[in-house]
Amino acid sequence: MVGGVPIGGGAPVSIQSMTSTYTYEVDATVRQIRQLAEAGCDMVRVAVPDKRDTAVLPAILEQSPVPIIADVHFHFERALEAIKAGVHKIRLNPGNIKDRKQVDRVIAACRERGIPIRVGVNEGSVVERQNKEARATQQEALTSDYGSHMIRLMVEALEDYMRIFDENVFHDVVLSAKSIDATMVIDAYRAISDRFDLPLHLGLTHAGPPETGRIRSIASLGSLLSMGVGDTIRISYASDPVHEVEDAKELLCSLGLRNRVEPELIACPTCGRIEIDLIKLVADIRMKLAGIKTPVKVAVMGCVVNGPGEAEGADVAVFAGKGKGIIYVQGERKRTVSEADMLDALYEETVVFARRVERGEVTLSHSRVTIAPPDPLPRSDGSIPLPIR
Ligand code: SF4
Repeated sequence: MVGGVPIGGGAPVSIQSMTSTYTYEVDATVRQIRQLAEAGCDMVRVAVPDKRDTAVLPAILEQSPVPIIADVHFHFERALEAIKAGVHKIRLNPGNIKDRKQVDRVIAACRERGIPIRVGVNEGSVVERQNKEARATQQEALTSDYGSHMIRLMVEALEDYMRIFDENVFHDVVLSAKSIDATMVIDAYRAISDRFDLPLHLGLTHAGPPETGRIRSIASLGSLLSMGVGDTIRISYASDPVHEVEDAKELLCSLGLRNRVEPELIACPTCGRIEIDLIKLVADIRMKLAGIKTPVKVAVMGCVVNGPGEAEGADVAVFAGKGKGIIYVQGERKRTVSEADMLDALYEETVVFARRVERGEVTLSHSRVTIAPPDPLPRSDGSIPLPIR
């Protein structure tokens, strides 16, 4: 349990993110925490590198709508200060807080407050940096088989650290083992899931901006979640952290691990049959739908090739043709509108339908929208490509 949010033991997978502000700048930090919470983040981690960061934690906690986790590196005193301030969880890195007495003191403080500790290793933090001889041996092994040796190092680092926790009879622990490599993340978490019976926090670290980091984050975390591995997730981007939460939420909804609470937008990819500016329509309706808090399924289709059959799976759908579109609501043809009116009409019908759902007059459609591949168009040389299967 992290500040009322259940973790592990069959609890829903929760979303975590991290502020990118200087924690000691209270107003900016609280503003970002609220933005993350509003986007659907269940708990927020803040960095506390300095005493001035832990000093403002009471003010942040007082204003935060979600549990706060203190991310501690190098200085165990920051952990003690954060625990005293009332944070809901601590993150420790075995790679930089190693002293047994210091770890014992953090464990004792967490026990007293009844809060969990995440023990998180990273690919970069398990490599030996001080003992030259040990480092040379390690490098040799890493050169011969980097992946399996790195995973062994991460598991061993967790095993060593967990011995301290076992000796303290403290089991309120979450584990993580992050890497920048998607396959390594999958293999590392599978290994620690086999080795430890503890909740796992999933993450692929240093993924880059959303444009380049999204695929490897979703590929690795999605694979693990679909195997039933993972209790909390953080997608990390070099960007506004709100994008981390948006993508984490979409990942969980797509895998059926979280119920949607907002509209789901389905749109055709467009092809040579398109006769309206569908890309703009999709972008515009997406913005407008953001204000609706009912999980209505809205489909925007570029033509009628796939027929009204697909519209039966969506709650509200538009099929565009040359300069006009036909709007369907749960499979029933509602109206034909010009391209100029399409955005407003689609939005209006969605709002009307959402209100009817809220009043209990209709129920949401739960069948899937199946979008069949379009008939192949002839190439410039007249040949017909094989249909996509
Ligand atoms: S055939 Fe499919 S992809 Fe092409 S415009 Fe029609 S709905 Fe869109």
